[in-house]
Amino acid sequence: MKPHPAYRRLFLWLALIILVSPLIYWSTGIGQAAATLTAEISRLPDGTLTSSPKAEALHSLSLPMRIERMFLYPLLLLAFQFSGASLALRRWLEQRILKNTAGGQGGKGAGVNKLLRSSAPLLLCLFLFVLLFNLALALLYLPFNFYRGFIVGHQFGLSTQTAPGWFGDWAKGLLIGLVLDGLTWTGLYGLMRWLPRRWPLPAGALLVLFSVVLVLLQPILITPLFYEVRPLADAELRARILALAGRADMQVDAVEVIDASSKTTEVNAYFTGFGGAQRIVLFDTLLRDYTPDQIEVVLAHEMGHWYYHHVLLSILGLGAAGWLGLFALQWLLKRTWRWLGLSGPADIAGLPYVLAVLALVSTLALPFENGISRLAERQADQFALSASQKPQAMVELFEQFAVQNLSLVEPPGWEKFLFYTHPPLAERIGMAEGWAAAAQ
Ligand SMILES: [Zn+2]
Repeated sequence: MKPHPAYRRLFLWLALIILVSPLIYWSTGIGQAAATLTAEISRLPDGTLTSSPKAEALHSLSLPMRIERMFLYPLLLLAFQFSGASLALRRWLEQRILKNTAGGQGGKGAGVNKLLRSSAPLLLCLFLFVLLFNLALALLYLPFNFYRGFIVGHQFGLSTQTAPGWFGDWAKGLLIGLVLDGLTWTGLYGLMRWLPRRWPLPAGALLVLFSVVLVLLQPILITPLFYEVRPLADAELRARILALAGRADMQVDAVEVIDASSKTTEVNAYFTGFGGAQRIVLFDTLLRDYTPDQIEVVLAHEMGHWYYHHVLLSILGLGAAGWLGLFALQWLLKRTWRWLGLSGPADIAGLPYVLAVLALVSTLALPFENGISRLAERQADQFALSASQKPQAMVELFEQFAVQNLSLVEPPGWEKFLFYTHPPLAERIGMAEGWAAAAQ
């Protein structure tokens, strides 16, 4: 397949749409009118909950944005690939790096040392390709992400960040992403060159190892870059948590609080880690705005994830899927590299194509992945009910979540099927009410 000018035009059109789409969302006036809407949810006489007008308005903006991103992103990558721009970028890098280092430094040294020295320029090429490519993508999506995170966040009263604060976070996130992506793809393509037949085997092992290390290091290295992390100070709440953990026969290592209020009004809590390095992390907004009973229910839910080993299971599940994916990638590249005009399956110029396929496969896997996630969340809710014995606090907690996070209480079925990692709040409230009724 030859690069075709039509793809270049398509690429430019897509890039233009992505750049100006925030203006289109803005021109609908939905965000500007948000401040006048109420965030209160209501209960119909028959008991069904209805979402707040403000949550409905937010949803009418965020859903098209999500769908735009889902479709235009892989299309953009494919257009970049087929326009020949990806090959041109790789050639340009090779001319600058490989030519300069081709002579001169070969020769002496043996074994690994020599291999390293001779492949360093190649690895540098791979790394720079990933870096430049991801940097360009991040810049292209900057207006879109700024609109989605900062402008809409302020219009709906969800964000408490200043613009410099937002850009600071964006830059930090970008830097971390560039390093991680750079290392991952350089490693993967390096392995493809050295072990053309067997690379999926070691690559899969490294990938699983990498994600395990990342899950363990994230709370220590990455979260503190964005938030102030401190141990839970409230002695009374601490005692309640320990009592709760005692009843569930569990050992609590760390309960931490992050200053989420410096960025958002939303509330959340999460559980992370496994083995001896597990921790529960609470948003300070939760401590500020919720009753001790409600906080206890949240903690009991997080303990449910702990009890059922959800983090470890998800790493293993995703690791296994990723490993199979690497074999599929090898199969795919072997059959398509000529068609793509690449110099071989391990040509980094094929990265946009690989990323596009990955994005499409991830989208197709969403219903499956989210279905499993909703199952795990239901399990944790059930656990929270039996550990805390506080169904009423849980009902009130979820009602307040709907108000504070502007969540739809009952999204359309297809949307839940595709996008929802948690059961909708109406379902979770219904479950708590059902549990209370059964317990009486
Ligand atoms: Zn959960």
